[in-house]
Parts: sequence; structure tokens; C-alpha cells
Amino acid sequence: MNPTVDTDLLVIGGGISGAGVALAAARRGLRVTLVEREDFASGASSASSKLVHGGLRYLAQGAVHLTAQSLRERERLLRELPGLVQRLPFSLAAGGAASRASTALGLRLYDALARRHARGFDPATTLAWTVPGWHAPQGAHRYDDATTDDARLTLRVLQEARTWGAQLHNRTALEALTRDAQGHVNGAQLRGPGGQPWTLRCRASVAATGAHLTTLADQVGLQAPQLRPLRGSHLLLPLWRLPLARAVAWRHARDGRPVFAYPWLGTLIVGTTDEDHPDPERAPRITAAEQAYLLDALAQAFPRAGIQACDLQCTWAGLRPVLDSGQGLAPSQERRDTLVQASQGLVLLSGGKLTTFIPMAEAALRAAAPWLPPLREPAHAAWFAGGGTPLPPEALRGECLGGTQTRMGEIAWSLQHEQVHHLDDLLLRRTRLGLRQPAFAQALLPALQTPCQSALGWDGTRWRFEVERYLALMHERHGVVGPERRAAPKPGPIPSGDRPAHAPGEGRTAS
Ligand SMILES: Cc1cc2nc3c(=O)[nH]c(=O)nc-3n(C[C@H](O)[C@H](O)[C@H](O)COP(=O)(O)OP(=O)(O)OC[C@H]3O[C@@H](n4cnc5c(N)ncnc54)[C@H](O)[C@@H]3O)c2cc1C
Repeated sequence: MNPTVDTDLLVIGGGISGAGVALAAARRGLRVTLVEREDFASGASSASSKLVHGGLRYLAQGAVHLTAQSLRERERLLRELPGLVQRLPFSLAAGGAASRASTALGLRLYDALARRHARGFDPATTLAWTVPGWHAPQGAHRYDDATTDDARLTLRVLQEARTWGAQLHNRTALEALTRDAQGHVNGAQLRGPGGQPWTLRCRASVAATGAHLTTLADQVGLQAPQLRPLRGSHLLLPLWRLPLARAVAWRHARDGRPVFAYPWLGTLIVGTTDEDHPDPERAPRITAAEQAYLLDALAQAFPRAGIQACDLQCTWAGLRPVLDSGQGLAPSQERRDTLVQASQGLVLLSGGKLTTFIPMAEAALRAAAPWLPPLREPAHAAWFAGGGTPLPPEALRGECLGGTQTRMGEIAWSLQHEQVHHLDDLLLRRTRLGLRQPAFAQALLPALQTPCQSALGWDGTRWRFEVERYLALMHERHGVVGPERRAAPKPGPIPSGDRPAHAPGEGRTAS
């Protein structure tokens, strides 16, 4: 082994998978360095449906192992992160007698795998009280799952990894891997946020770049298994527009796919779609057809609510890193398995789910173990020794902003401690103000100028660039399709394409 390495394990990608690997390795005594080319959690890990779930529909596909593992993980995360992962009661619209019997059987297994009893059945007369306005004439099955703030969960995992000594580098891209004479990966060429190149020597590396795994493999000359990036889009409404107290799920009349709506941090999430998105480097956004599909789903389930595009607050889309079965299946039929492939000091990790990041991380670490120093027994059985509080007490100072639970103290804390490089890092991922309250977040911008400038050393030109970049992102990536577009007024032109260009005063950034 090379004693002169800078780090034992290099982790590429700061989504939930990379964050999990960094934590798994750091708590077992390894020196870990993680690099993220854009912002922590800026990929699928902030654009998911935000469910911590077993996946009832995966059970229907026969994926019992995945469901059992996901349910165990759901229960673990509920136990260890009570402030961040919360139980969510679900009602699933019942179909005819045959489907009702098979769903009841599935829920019995779901409960057994989770070792709890949550299932039940509500006739339509009960639903009239519990979910007023829901058109579910055959009644609904009751069960429960859980929900989280996906970006905050990822940041919380990174925070925990850092307490174990992991080095985290935001806005730092892997550009190339270096290898020794035998072809073993022994380092990487990286590019930091100011465009500065640097080289890192490592014993092994894990590439956890989600849907970008194929891009990375091409970049470093590797054979990687075929991924099938699948875009999933969501609508977000103010909760008062359709005040649900629980999650509801039903089959879309058009294609029979399950769709859902549920209350999340004072808003209502409606999702989701499953569409091929062959070029993962093209930033995903909702299409007019997907928006119409989800609005149709709402009209079918809540006909009297009359929800239209003008009611929407914002939208988002993410890319599922799904392994391509090569069988030409419909997107929703592809299995959500995990990929762990190891060769010559490099582990490729992709697929899987937000919910299963811990077993994924453990599998990646096991695969990298032959090239690493012996792993120590972790000091605690719990993964989150600090408990479930996602933020320290000093972040909870000041008044709640815009009817959300975000406070000025959290903004100040994030600016100081969470490697914020752009305004959108702060408003879309450290806090979710931009999604939860787009108009309020925009009105708040003048109040954020001084804290951002003093914490991040931005001058007036940089501040104006950041505001323009943020508004452009809100419009391009989170806006509502059509003339009713409301999430943000259309800003002036931004420098280029899908990703805003680098900020004034910075070199070429990785983003
Ligand atoms: C629409 C949708 C809904 C979903 N819903 C759920 C759900 O409800 N529950 C659930 O459990 N799971 C859900 N998932 C799945 C889950 O979100 C993903 O499996 C998970 O977030 C993937 O995490 P990741 O870290 O592998 O990928 P990502 O979060 O995409 O992270 C990969 C990171 O690698 C970075 N990167 C890429 N190239 C480089 C490079 N060269 N150098 C450095 N960094 C690089 C990227 O910038 C990115 O941040 C959903 C996914 C989608 C898209």
C-alpha cells in the first residue's frame, strides 16, 4: 500500500449515496474526501418525492428483498432522525374486488416486513370525513410510510460524516482519475470552485454520481453498465388549496400508474411521472405533457377542487438513476436495484433509493475494503450519534420566515457552516424557501443581501449576478408551464443554457 496518500477513500458525488459512503467510511476510521461538482444534494437527492418508504409498488413487482430492506431502513431513519423523518399516513384508493384482495394481502406483507400493524380499510363514507372531496367510491386501504426533506437529509448525513473527520468539498469536480502502472486507481485530478485544479492521491475511490455515472465512466474511460435515466416531475401547491391531512394515492385513469398527493412542510406535493430522459447532462424540468398529466390526476381524484395551472406554486423534476434491464420495459416497470461494481480501486455505486442509502453505502464500502486499511468497529451502533436534530440550537434563532419554519438564524448558520456558493444553494437546498414560498423568497432577497455579502465576501456585482441566476433557475427549472407561469417573473437573459455560468470573480466553476 502507498503510505503517501492524501486520503484513504475518495468519494465522487455529494448526493445521498456519496454522503452515505462518506459517513460509512469515516465512522469506521478511514480518512475520507468527498467532492461534489455542483452543490451538495443538487441532483436527484433534492428532487425526489421525499418519501422514506418501503415502496408498495415494488412489492407488487415481486421485489420483496428491496421492499424488506427499505422498510427496515424506514424504521431505522424514523428512530434515529425523528426531527427529519416523520411518519406519514397513506390512503390508497381501492379498485375492484380482485385488486382489493391482492392489495390487502400486499399490505399484510408490508406490515409484517416492517414489524408493525398500520393497515386498515376505510369505506367511502369514512373517507368523506378523513379526506373530504376525494373521489374514491370503492373506499381506500390505509397504511403508513414516512417523509423527509431530502436535501436536508443529505446535508445531515454529510454533517455527521464531517464530525467523523470527512473532508467535504462542494463545487469541486472530478476531471480525471489517475492510475498506477498496474491500472489501479490511485488518485484524481479535481477542479475546485474557483476553477483551480488540484490532485489528490487515494487508495480507492467510490463514484456515486447517480444518473451521471455513464458520463463519468466515459470521461475516465471505463466500461459502466447501462443506466436508464428516468425523469420524475412534481407539482407543488399551497396546502390551503387542497388541505389534506394525510397522503392519498390512486391510479391515474389514463395509464393506471400510481400517483399521489401529500402534505409536506405546509405545501402539497403531487407526483409523479416516469419518463425517459436519455441525456443526464440536460437539466431536467417538467414538460407541458407531464404537468397536464398530474393536473388531470388531481382533477380525477378531486373533481370539485378545480385545480389548474394557475394554482401551482412551483414544480421540479429529477432523474432517477435506474439500471437498464435492456428489455424495453415501460419506465415504471424497471426495477430500482442498486449497482455496486468494483474493479482496480474503483467502486461504481448507483441505482437504489434515498431510503436505502445506508445499506448501499455499506455495500460500496465492503466492495472497496480490499484496497483500504482495516475498518474499525464504529464507536456507536447508531449512525447519527447526535440524534435527530437536523440543525444546531444557534440555527433556530429569530422569527420564522414566511409562515415556514425557516428562521434568519438558520440562514446565517448555513452561510457560515454549509459551504454555500450560490444564492440557489441557500434558497433551494439549505432551506427550501424557494420551493415552499417562491414569492416570499423573492420578496426576501433584499433582506438577504447584507448577510450573504458579509458571510461570503460578495460585492454588489456578484450579488446582482446571484439574484439573476436564482430567478433564472426558478423560472427555468421550477416554473409552471404555460401562460399562467407564476413561480417567478421571467428574469432577464442569463449567460448560458441549462446551467448558469460561473459567477463574476470566479474562474470556470465545475457547475
Ligand atoms: C423523481 C424522483 C422521485 C424519487 N422519489 C424517491 C422517494 O420518494 N423515496 C426514495 O427513497 N427515493 C426516491 N427517489 C430515488 C432517490 O432520489 C435517488 O435514488 C437518490 O437521490 C440518488 O442519489 P445519488 O446520490 O445516487 O444521486 P444524486 O443525488 O443525483 O447525486 C449524484 C451527484 O454526483 C454529482 N456528480 C456528477 N458528476 C460528478 C463529477 N464528475 N464530480 C463530482 N461530482 C459529480 C452530481 O452533481 C450529483 O450531485 C426518487 C428519485 C427521483 C428522480
